Amino acid sequence: MTILMSLMKVDYENLQKVNSQFETVFKEKFKEFLEKGWYVLGEEVSSFEKEFAKYNGNQFCVGVASGLDALILALNSLELAEGSEVIVPANTYIATILAIIKAGLKPILVEPDFVTANIDINKIEENISEKTKVILIVHLYGNMVNMQAVNEIAEKNKISIIEDCAQAHGAMYGGKKSGTFGIGAFSFYPTKNLGALGDAGAITVDDRNLYEKLKALRNYGSHKKYYNDYIGLNSRLDELQAAFLRVKLKYLDDITKHKRELATKYNSKLSDVLKKPKEIDGSYSVYHIYNIRLENLEQRDRLKKYLEEKQIKTEIHYPVPPHKQKAYQELLSGDYPVSEKIHETTLSLPVSYATTAAEVDQVIEIINYWVKTQL
Ligand SMILES: *Cc1c(COP(=O)(O)O)cnc(C)c1O
Repeated sequence: MTILMSLMKVDYENLQKVNSQFETVFKEKFKEFLEKGWYVLGEEVSSFEKEFAKYNGNQFCVGVASGLDALILALNSLELAEGSEVIVPANTYIATILAIIKAGLKPILVEPDFVTANIDINKIEENISEKTKVILIVHLYGNMVNMQAVNEIAEKNKISIIEDCAQAHGAMYGGKKSGTFGIGAFSFYPTKNLGALGDAGAITVDDRNLYEKLKALRNYGSHKKYYNDYIGLNSRLDELQAAFLRVKLKYLDDITKHKRELATKYNSKLSDVLKKPKEIDGSYSVYHIYNIRLENLEQRDRLKKYLEEKQIKTEIHYPVPPHKQKAYQELLSGDYPVSEKIHETTLSLPVSYATTAAEVDQVIEIINYWVKTQL
């Protein structure tokens, strides 16, 4: 183990390093912004919306303040009766479920598939009732859900599809990008594959009426200043963030390529004793998160600690499932053993745009050594 003699410190994420690559252009953009003096819903927002819609293969995009708001507004735009049911995976970031509750709707949690960690396609239909109006899909970790299966279920039961694409910018199923199968809700939170320098989000749609409605909904429900057609929100994509996002959108494919290269390295070289992520047939993952699965909680925590001692930072996505969260005890009942098992055994390894191939080689070598000697 010669490599152990010259250990590098490995960050899980280093946003300063990611964004310093764009520093010169960001500074130019900020200077332009100051000189122009237009702060809210200006040309940067409308240009970003056009560019992001085009990137995705959507007709339209509406910039909003965050991923959470993108989800809330997407749900609001459907104008559903209060208490309507929304199918959602039991293991997702809390924002997906919070959005449903904030929209006055009822989340119906569905167990994930243990291997993909995405919603179990075979358990959707048994959870559909007369009140079900939406399937809210989450492409978790940047890994696509089988959208052909979801489309068939949605069509058969006449329910809408919303996609939480917060972790899946540019991910594809059957050659089509995430956010083109239903209403797409995106987050540009700084750590996401396409990350702003603050909070930001967007909604993608193909229907012109929905597009017009969403543009009003994010802006006090108003198409025309001081005239309110809907009960909306103040949730506009910030003009300066739009300017920064336009710079980074040009590099999104490059960011994805880098992350996929690191993931390929992990996939091919990490010990096969560990469970590794799997892309379903016909899909293209963007590895927002690269996570392995251990046998149990004890093993996972022990490996995490071992890596920490070797100065390798890892994360857990996520430590507590939504139905076990304190604030949601009364709202989310039921047992979700598959989701819980994923939460107990998952470990996310460094796969940032700022992570180098040499760092990944080191992480692999140390993990494989741990597997051989301490598993
Ligand atoms: C990050 C994230 C969100 C929320 O996005 P914000 O911009 O932080 O509000 C929603 N869903 C998923 C799956 C996420 O990862």
